[in-house]
Amino acid sequence: MVDLRAAQPEDLKGSHRSRAPMKLLENKRGLVVGVANSHSIAWGISQVCHQQGADLAFTYLNESLEKRVRPLAESLNSTLIFPCDVSQDAHLEQLRENVEKWGKLDFVVHAVAFAQREDLDGRFIDTSREGFRIALDISAYSLVALARACEPLMNPGGSILALTYYGAEKVVRNYNVMGVAKAALEASVRYLAADLGQKQVRVNAISAGPIKTLSAKGIRDFNDMLKHAAEKAPLQRNVESMEVGKSAAYLLSDLSSGVTGEVHYVDCGYNLMGM
Ligand code: NAD
Repeated sequence: MVDLRAAQPEDLKGSHRSRAPMKLLENKRGLVVGVANSHSIAWGISQVCHQQGADLAFTYLNESLEKRVRPLAESLNSTLIFPCDVSQDAHLEQLRENVEKWGKLDFVVHAVAFAQREDLDGRFIDTSREGFRIALDISAYSLVALARACEPLMNPGGSILALTYYGAEKVVRNYNVMGVAKAALEASVRYLAADLGQKQVRVNAISAGPIKTLSAKGIRDFNDMLKHAAEKAPLQRNVESMEVGKSAAYLLSDLSSGVTGEVHYVDCGYNLMGM
């Protein structure tokens, strides 16, 4: 636990007389699900968690992504890189067994979403039954399944974090079925927080502003979303994945020990603007 009451003015100034400040995630182990490449929000989160002293394990979706994830993980001194397709219960079970060999977990990052390209374009009303199922399964149910797989591994005081977007609450053109999936994800965060609270495990989400990533490229006119968000946000710019990482480090650390079931905006303030 980082004890802020004990911080002296010299500590805060970083005086040479004070000992090195304790890192937020020192002695903590985390599993990161959702790195695809160096543009991934999960990679921004991983870098900040590493800077803050965490030991990390990673997953990758398939062999072609493994080629990208492995060197990234190794650059943070992690050799724990496991395959996992979150739509497959057997993969989640195998992941739990692999992580168990490593030890207990202090945090889990869920940064996974998928919808068919044709469902991220045009009218929401045209979403097919199968397209709806796929989006909700991979983008929302997977958080429930991942939390259940990790539950026996979580230390008390542990933290689970998911990534969501404003399209869960308001209609965002072309976000379509993913907005519905994010609404389900946010509700799942609250229900999971209620379940896991008994074990002193917290569950929260970050609602990030638009960031150009592999997944984002699947959304039609994504560049317009970026431009609009930068123009309207109080900070007059788009958020960066390292900024999401910094807020994630707070939610994954003991600094947020009293916070659970929350959706925390990291969007340069975009969400609060009306006309
Ligand atoms: P990304 O493409 O880098 O990451 C998405 C990840 O989901 C990839 O690593 C991909 O391999 C993984 N994935 C997809 N299907 C999977 C499956 N079946 N099993 C396991 N993994 C699977 O894109 P990102 O933008 O960094 O997305 C990370 C999270 O952030 C997502 O939940 C996304 O919705 C959310 N988010 C993104 C933005 C944005 O503008 N980029 C904004 C808010 C929230």
